[in-house]
Amino acid sequence: MSRKIILTGDRPTGPLHLGHYVGSLKARVELQDQHQQFVMIADAQALTDHADKPDMIRQNIFQVALDYLAVGIDPKKTTIFIQSLIPALFELTTYYLNLVTWNRLKHNPTVKQEIQQKGYGDNVPAGFMVYPISQAADITAFKANLVPVGDDQVPMIEQTTEVVRKFNRMYNCSVLVEPEAILSNMARLPGIDGKAKMSKSLGNSIFLSDTTDVVAKKVKSMYTDPGHIRIEDPGKVEGNPVFTYLDAFGKDKAKIEELKAHYQKGGLGDSVVKKYLLEVLQSFLEPIRDRRKEFEQDKGEVMRLLREGTEVARAAADATLTDVRAAMGINYF
Ligand code: ATP
Ligand code: MG
Repeated sequence: MSRKIILTGDRPTGPLHLGHYVGSLKARVELQDQHQQFVMIADAQALTDHADKPDMIRQNIFQVALDYLAVGIDPKKTTIFIQSLIPALFELTTYYLNLVTWNRLKHNPTVKQEIQQKGYGDNVPAGFMVYPISQAADITAFKANLVPVGDDQVPMIEQTTEVVRKFNRMYNCSVLVEPEAILSNMARLPGIDGKAKMSKSLGNSIFLSDTTDVVAKKVKSMYTDPGHIRIEDPGKVEGNPVFTYLDAFGKDKAKIEELKAHYQKGGLGDSVVKKYLLEVLQSFLEPIRDRRKEFEQDKGEVMRLLREGTEVARAAADATLTDVRAAMGINYF
């Protein structure tokens, strides 16, 4: 694959968990060697539904940055930046909003679902309603042609593609670049409670920043097969998050297959499998914890890296904005 420009990121509304690792962080560490990658800490987007909690967002910017650095996103290879410090993104959003209809916005399936989940009804913040257009600005500002996403984000890429086509057609230019979504091939990581999705608001997450004690407690409390009551009973591996995590984080595939066969046959206790899972998770998390600790002790350095990345991102977005204004003929002077 030729070198592409990638835009991805997270809303800083909490620390990142194993689901984020499987769903996106792992890919970012791999992609940064082949492509030009921008990773955005989407604080402005987080404000669209947390306007009353700027302090929470401020704190989580640092936590998310630590998570990035800890998993191996390398600021020498990847541009990590803070969204709200790039004014061009907001100007682009304003112009793009004129290219979409209110009706189209109302029918974005992901936003519709989120409005329902959050119980907004008609009292949805206008900024939240239009956040897919702000995402179109984020993606196009960097001329990103590759956007790694989970399936919930596919409607955002479709919306961005529509904006790109409409802009280029209306202003008779080829300034904006159509993005391509790459779907993460790993299915959703389930929660420790067995629910389909590990999610911080469901309280069923193992965070990358959890201490060894907390991870041990969480693994012990994990949901398994409710039909597996006595050790000698045969147990189910499908839908059993303990085995899903082993598949996702375990290196010794032969041992995992052996454990699965034994569990299905009967005679293997949950506590034994959990004990092994705990070993697997601790050895996965240990180097992440170590790197996190190092950066945590040097907050100045983390903030300096963020400032540097933000400057690079600002220059890239400004260049696109200049092209956009020229294409629209609103470059007055
Ligand atoms: P919240 O509960 O506040 O919605 P969350 O923990 O579900 O938070 P999000 O911020 O909604 O996390 O997730 C951002 C992105 O991270 C998602 O679009 C998805 O791509 C990825 N992601 C989140 N949770 C998982 C998961 N359990 N498995 C795989 N990917 C995930
Ligand atoms: Mg979520």
